[in-house]
Amino acid sequence: MERGAPHPVNELQRLQRLSELCVVESNVDEVFERVVAMTALYYDAPISLISIVDQHRQWFRARVGMDATQTPRELSFCGYAILANEPMEILDATQDERFKDNPLVTGPPYIRYYAGAPLLTDDGLALGSLCIIDGQPRAPMSARDRSILKHFAELVMQRILGLRSRSFVDQPTGLFNRLRLEEDVRHSQINHLGSQLFVVDMLSPKFLNDVVKALGYSFSQELILAIKSRLQALLPAGCVLYKVSPTRFGFIVPDDAPTEALCRHILEDFKLPVECQGIPVQMQVGLGVLPIDSAQGDQDWLRLAVSAADDARDRNVGWARYEPKFDAAQRRAFTLLSSLSEAVRTSDQLYLMFQPQVHLLTGTCQSVEALLRWDHPLLGPISPAEFIPLVEKTALMRPLSLWVLDAIIRQSVAWREVGINLRISMNVTVNDLEDPGFVDQLLKSARLQQIPPEHLEIEFTESVLMENPPQVQQQLQRVRDAGMEVAIDDFGTGYSNWSYFSQLPVTTVKLDQSLMKKLATDAKDQRLVKTLIELAQRLGYRVVAEGIESQTTLALIQQWGCTEVQGYLFARPMLASALPAWLDSRPAG
Ligand code: C2E
Ligand code: MG
Ligand code: MG
Repeated sequence: MERGAPHPVNELQRLQRLSELCVVESNVDEVFERVVAMTALYYDAPISLISIVDQHRQWFRARVGMDATQTPRELSFCGYAILANEPMEILDATQDERFKDNPLVTGPPYIRYYAGAPLLTDDGLALGSLCIIDGQPRAPMSARDRSILKHFAELVMQRILGLRSRSFVDQPTGLFNRLRLEEDVRHSQINHLGSQLFVVDMLSPKFLNDVVKALGYSFSQELILAIKSRLQALLPAGCVLYKVSPTRFGFIVPDDAPTEALCRHILEDFKLPVECQGIPVQMQVGLGVLPIDSAQGDQDWLRLAVSAADDARDRNVGWARYEPKFDAAQRRAFTLLSSLSEAVRTSDQLYLMFQPQVHLLTGTCQSVEALLRWDHPLLGPISPAEFIPLVEKTALMRPLSLWVLDAIIRQSVAWREVGINLRISMNVTVNDLEDPGFVDQLLKSARLQQIPPEHLEIEFTESVLMENPPQVQQQLQRVRDAGMEVAIDDFGTGYSNWSYFSQLPVTTVKLDQSLMKKLATDAKDQRLVKTLIELAQRLGYRVVAEGIESQTTLALIQQWGCTEVQGYLFARPMLASALPAWLDSRPAG
């Protein structure tokens, strides 16, 4: 004989509903506690339980007189109680074929009497039961008491639904939240309502974070409330606004609503700053629109609409309809990130290329920049310009940087053994400099391998300094104190705050390659580069011009006094094995 109660005919829907209702066992709920206490008291029963019958177990949402928090489903009496719409009563379990050998009857808590009313949803799915248990057999309860048990069970159901609707609300704004929007989108799709989903991204998360840092949490909360009111007033009558993330809102409108006009209306309005505590804050709105197509299978609708909104903001076009290519880009990013750990472990996918920096006065090369390469087993070669910005946002950056560091140290040792004495420059990100871990490893490895400190350099971009200035500065100082070189990469594209840089322990400035692109023809770029070179040299920096591809550009920067260059004109990045031959073709250093 199969153990335990048979499953209800609607078991699948029942389990589905159970998960949708998010009945969680973690926190104590005052209402449930009172219901079990009241039930135990009213029926004078030593045990009273709200039991949720899950796939393989029953667990107790609230309990009186019972130590266990759950039992296997096949032992549960409630598994039987959920088979009917009316309360089930077992007067003496030892006399009942179904229960007489049940360990809960033959052992603690020695159940003899059981009465349980199913917890029924509106459409007749039983989630579990409210039950009372006694160690003594009892006579059948009166019709009145049965009816009261049913009422108590209904009360429990009301509470379950109430908690669920509370989990649909974003507390600070009082708007429906992401869960609710997802459910409403699904509802629209299943019922072929013909609608479109809008996501409005008001601010970049980074900006909001900066607002919190600068003006405090309560200001940011108030700002969000002000945005909510403005946005709500712009929506068509009867349209519900949802809050889907700290900076994003969403809403659903019928298919035939004028999409473009609605988007323009919102964008136009938010050209004016949102006023909060007398401070005007400029929004950076991105709107994403996605038709909820009933013919489509199950999709992550919200994610797709968000990617359209992000795209609209990134491209500065205000609003965009979802296009599958956004999703393809996200999926590619996901694939890359999920396969990076393996790449770092297996070491046949990652390798370094080295690009020489040439000294113009002597024609010699004393430094090379290490540039990371990744041959993905499925996607082929991936540019660091694509994967580094992704990895930087994750905890994978540290192991990747340590891989690069290790490869550089090994290369430096190998070259020195064959008499090649080059400085190797390594690109680092903010992640590498915001705590001491990476620099600790750099200093330790260099010491262990006895690499002369001046043979190592780190390069970082200006953006690194924006994130965490004191910590970053401290780590740069440690590198410098050890006698290694420190370079600012891609210089001239950001804010280039000279007075700030002059306080940093920096030895080298690398002029960004974008400055060289139009140098031959653009008088403004010429003035800029000339000034940058002069200023950097006056401040005592070594200046390297990146991206030198033509003789004309070379002649110009040489004329302005720049003494070091890195670019395709001299050498493309090459494998370590190719470098000795290239060096041999140069004048001796
Ligand atoms: P970057 O540090 O500014 O490196 C210079 C980039 O310009 C390299 O691209 C190099 O191949 C390219 N380049 C050099 N000369 C020329 C030229 O004459 N013309 C043109 N058009 N390009 C030139 P690559 O190797 O694709 O690297 C891109 C970026 O990825 C690097 O820019 C750096 O920011 C990052 N990166 C590369 N390797 C690493 C690494 O190991 N760690 C970290 N954190 N970032 C890395
Ligand atoms: Mg670099
Ligand atoms: Mg650069």
